[in-house]
Amino acid sequence: MRILISACLLGLRCRYDGAAKACPAALALEKAGHTLIPVCPEQLGGLPTPRTPCERVGDRVISENGEDRTAAYALGAAQAEALFDLLHCDCAILKSRSPMCGAGEIYDGRFRRTLVPGYGVLAQRLAERGIPVYTEENLSI
Ligand code: SF4
Repeated sequence: MRILISACLLGLRCRYDGAAKACPAALALEKAGHTLIPVCPEQLGGLPTPRTPCERVGDRVISENGEDRTAAYALGAAQAEALFDLLHCDCAILKSRSPMCGAGEIYDGRFRRTLVPGYGVLAQRLAERGIPVYTEENLSI
């Protein structure tokens, strides 16, 4: 399969804090013959690394210091979705709980590490099209 994957799960240092979040199970998919296509949609939206963390607040994405990052998130998600289509991906594996990549649960917008049901901006776009979206915590490929 061709899998769009959050770049931080492959060890790229693209997270808001400049760190990676390498996931051995995700890396093993390449050895199993799958084609992994890394993408960091927050960077594709023009955000710097490191950057101030953000959370979804309703339809908006707000940084911890109160800046509205909705437009950058929308751009980055659209760019990542375009890559998904251009490279004929079959599914996506995205980083859990991220306001861009999380699928199933995300933080509640109050920066208190409280989880609520929901999706990150990219995960929502893909899921709404019926595309299978997994996180590193529910890999079932
Ligand atoms: Fe990882 Fe996605 Fe955040 Fe980029 S936007 S650092 S790929 S979780």
